[in-house]
Amino acid sequence: MTPLVQRAPRFSTEDAVRLALDIYGLHATAGPLPSERDQNFRLRDAGGAQYVLKIANAEERREILDLQNRALQHLADSSTSLVWPRVIVSRNGEEIAECDAHFVRLLTWVDGVCLAEVQPHSPELLASLGAALAVTDRALETFSHPAATRVFHWDLAEARMARPHLELLPLARRALVEPILDGWERIPFQELPASVIYGDANDYNVLVDGNRVCALLDFGDMVRTASICDLAIAIAYVMLDKDDPLAPAAHVVAAYNKVRLLLDTELDALYPLAAARLAMSVCYAAFQLSHAPGNEYLNISNAPAWRLLERLAALPDGWPTEVFRNVCRPAPDLLAARRRTIGPSLSISYDQPLHIIRGWKQRLYDSSGRAYLDCVNNVAHVGHCHPAVTSAATAQMARLNTNTRYLYDQLSEYAERLTGTLPEPLRVVYFVCSGSEANELALRLARAHTGRDGVIVVDTAYHGNTNALVDISPYKFNGPGGRGCPPHVQVVPMPDAYRGIAYEGTVAQAAWQGRAGAFICESALGCGGQIILPEGYLADAFDAVRRSGGVCIADEVQTGFGRAGSHFWMFETQGVVPDIVTMGKPIGNGHPMGAVVATREIAASFANGMEYFNTFGGNPVSCAAGLAVLDVIRDEGLQQNALDAGNYLMERLWDFGDPLIGDVRGQGLFIGVELVRDQASKEPAAEEAAALVNRMKSRGVLLSTDGPYHNVIKIKPPIVFNRDDADFVMKNWA
Ligand code: PMP
Repeated sequence: MTPLVQRAPRFSTEDAVRLALDIYGLHATAGPLPSERDQNFRLRDAGGAQYVLKIANAEERREILDLQNRALQHLADSSTSLVWPRVIVSRNGEEIAECDAHFVRLLTWVDGVCLAEVQPHSPELLASLGAALAVTDRALETFSHPAATRVFHWDLAEARMARPHLELLPLARRALVEPILDGWERIPFQELPASVIYGDANDYNVLVDGNRVCALLDFGDMVRTASICDLAIAIAYVMLDKDDPLAPAAHVVAAYNKVRLLLDTELDALYPLAAARLAMSVCYAAFQLSHAPGNEYLNISNAPAWRLLERLAALPDGWPTEVFRNVCRPAPDLLAARRRTIGPSLSISYDQPLHIIRGWKQRLYDSSGRAYLDCVNNVAHVGHCHPAVTSAATAQMARLNTNTRYLYDQLSEYAERLTGTLPEPLRVVYFVCSGSEANELALRLARAHTGRDGVIVVDTAYHGNTNALVDISPYKFNGPGGRGCPPHVQVVPMPDAYRGIAYEGTVAQAAWQGRAGAFICESALGCGGQIILPEGYLADAFDAVRRSGGVCIADEVQTGFGRAGSHFWMFETQGVVPDIVTMGKPIGNGHPMGAVVATREIAASFANGMEYFNTFGGNPVSCAAGLAVLDVIRDEGLQQNALDAGNYLMERLWDFGDPLIGDVRGQGLFIGVELVRDQASKEPAAEEAAALVNRMKSRGVLLSTDGPYHNVIKIKPPIVFNRDDADFVMKNWA
């Protein structure tokens, strides 16, 4: 292709003016237009009529130009709603004239703005592109021309031509491109419908009028190949320079499918072909660069393709094809189905509920192909669908799943590993299936050990969904449908430093008054509004509770497993050792698990003859998942990452200077941003917080609110969340 580019015609604008007059009898002014291998001029005659004078590359064959002319005529006759350039004949009656070994043609000018210059690409505009291409492809199904059957290096069926250039790429880039060319090899071209295609819907060739695609330009890449290639080429360009490339591509595909129904084989080939187009672009550019070293332009014009290849490589495996299939096939009404069968006491997030169908690392992907940065899921702790966890659990599930009345290696191995993360004397573990079961059991352990039912809880806390736990959860018993505080429960104020609540000594007071058996406290308050406990809070509280004969339960369901960054367990940031620790959510990265770890003394008190058996707790599959989670946290340095990314995000939030932000607080990747209407009065900005959450969702960031006034933005993402993600949050924060 290099000779072709190098042999591009080199006429001056004066030459163009002269050619227009000599060949077409047209008195016109001329201005240059861009072209890779030909030369084009924009002409304007005295009456204001405009034309494109096209001077072909010396290598170009007459048949190819005839192919273009015939196709344009065919499309113009097909009554599509698009405008097609018309071919003007010369004074000699020729459609194709000649000048100095170059073929020359004159086409009518088509008005419009090119897609590359329209920003943003609205869903309507993208849909219009899909429809325009489908209309074109349908019209071309009945078109044939002998010259269309040719070997052409931009034909996606010829992507093998790019492979020899792989060696020109640096290794990291080669690793992005090679799998795409491998995937291309598996495309069953013989099963794909073939036709002559337009073949060049790049964003400089697509003309837009308002919110609608009105014309396609440049027919030099026409070739007979798999019809789906037209769409593949278009989406390769549509995805360029988009933060979230798949969703805009999906708009194009869905609209295309409405006009020209895509076969399953075409849908499956679509993404591999679009990716192949990008691979071909970067390979050919590398080849050209090797012949023209120092041509910075080639590097710059390829940068968006490389950025896109990197973004695509970060998507879950097989996801693009799943999206394209999804948007082309009718979806069931899931909301209605849910309302028919699921208990109505459960709300659903967001005004426009999300239909998430894939999770990968710190992102969730919805059925339209949109990606969302997940800043709230503290269950998918080491990243959604982490392969180490899924493979450990599925491998074990395929071998054996049983219960803790049998001996198996995984149970003791996991118990050792888990207790090994905790300080002495926390050495005895009970495996359960949820955070609620863990807290429920913790209450039983405390009661068995102290002989007392009374419990001290912190205001606004939530500890779980069972009867006993609703009774110790002010968030529930004081909330809608709640029955108020039961007699055996004492509520102490939240130690909320930002709001200056007087909390000192309140746990001690409650302990002596109520002779409570247990004090249960999250090591940082979740429902309370992502509150970091003041220094010394747990030390003082634990001391008082123990001296009054009670035990201290640390609810680490939300806060454990390295999220704190500086420590593996949040209670360690307080310099204390609880008597009982409860765990849930992140423990199995989404596999339903929980655990309680207690001292030997407490375990001995509980062993009073009544057995504790939990059918699913501690089963081999759960142990395998739990072990894998511990391995990943260690092997990927995720605790350190939580510290680094959390501190970075908190700094950026403070620096942002949003007048609504009253407080930014956190520990590692457990962060709260309290929104207030007034910095002095601290009037909670609940509506503003809800609006922010919805706006951020529309920009691809999932957050939620918490706290008694619903004005705290909570941020507790999978702890693979990194600085780039923090930058993405801040870029969209508004
Ligand atoms: N404790 C805390 C602090 C929690 O946040 C939760 C759940 N939100 C639970 C316990 C209960 O866990 P689960 O929903 O797994 O039963």
